[in-house]
Amino acid sequence: MDQPVSPLFRFAPSPNGALHLGHAHSALVNRDWADALGRDQESQLLLRMEDIDTTRCTPSLADGMRGDLHWLGVTFDGEVEPQSQRFAAYQKALERLQDIGLVYASFMSRGEIKQAVAGKPDWPRDPDGSPHYPGDERSWKEEERQAQIDLGKRVVWRLDMAKAVAWAGRLVWTELANPSDAGTAIEAQPERWGDVVLARADVPTSYHLSVTVDDAAQGITHVVRGEDLRAATGVHRLLQHLLGLPVPLYHHHGLVLGDDGRKLSKSDGSTSLAALRESGVTPDGIRQQLDRLRAHP
Ligand code: GLU
Repeated sequence: MDQPVSPLFRFAPSPNGALHLGHAHSALVNRDWADALGRDQESQLLLRMEDIDTTRCTPSLADGMRGDLHWLGVTFDGEVEPQSQRFAAYQKALERLQDIGLVYASFMSRGEIKQAVAGKPDWPRDPDGSPHYPGDERSWKEEERQAQIDLGKRVVWRLDMAKAVAWAGRLVWTELANPSDAGTAIEAQPERWGDVVLARADVPTSYHLSVTVDDAAQGITHVVRGEDLRAATGVHRLLQHLLGLPVPLYHHHGLVLGDDGRKLSKSDGSTSLAALRESGVTPDGIRQQLDRLRAHP
């Protein structure tokens, strides 16, 4: 008989700034869930550094994050594996999608995209606000594509969303409300997104591709992350299907909002754990502040 799989969680910050209260909340919710399930079964929580953006993410910011989490008292299992060491694995996944003809090389820069959709308020946008890709390279012939490469244009690999959705059909994921919940099926609806980027011009992968590949490679059973990533789960669910990867269970928790009602950002230093710590706030103080939110997620 197969051994039951032990629950495996991960907290996966991008070390491109300092951790703030929102990250502390997410790390603590992951710890709560791992502890709750760990009562009956062995469960583990991994720390993953999502540092594919090698210009903005630095080892010293990653060290700072580890220090903040240690100070807060969130413990992790296993080794930290930085995504910047795993480009070959993402490349392999991209090649699989290239082989089945669901990705295409695009050449418009961010500035060109912005210009192409300027003055078009009805232009469709991704759930995160980015305009759908306005280029028509998905139907280009090989010679046209090669001509751009010969001109020195850098390739951005995009998923042909319409084709991928038609190929995959209806997809769902299981959303849990609490660690002992049986779960609710949620429609993935990846078609809410345009042709998302799978490999950037400057980095041979993207958030969507690397997070999906790593959740599977590490055998993550429970993805617990903020509500702001719920729509992205639709893209990840599609990629899991296309790449033949296992599907974890999901929980999207409530966000810590700033005084202005908006989600916290790394550029707003006032809620960084480092600043709070310096101002004399204790780890217990932070936990108490967040406990209220965790009690009513
Ligand atoms: N690295 C992502 C972030 O910091 C989170 C990824 C995830 O939890 O799936 O926003």
